[in-house]
Amino acid sequence: MKWRCPYCRTQIEVASPEALPHVPFCSERCKMADLHGWLTDKYVVSRPVDETDLEIEKMPDDESTPE
Ligand SMILES: [Zn+2]
Repeated sequence: MKWRCPYCRTQIEVASPEALPHVPFCSERCKMADLHGWLTDKYVVSRPVDETDLEIEKMPDDESTPE
């Protein structure tokens, strides 16, 4: 049967999807690249929350300066 790698879209001929060493990807490179894409996406989403947290902590410190 023909199998298409979900990452690089390369068509490969395999006996069965289970026969692929890096199911469902055609190679380890595609597997790691896809995994890295997911991790990077999570990192980008969580970063703005950190910056907002820092700015909130800065404000009360500014108000307590006259004391
Ligand atoms: Zn691939």
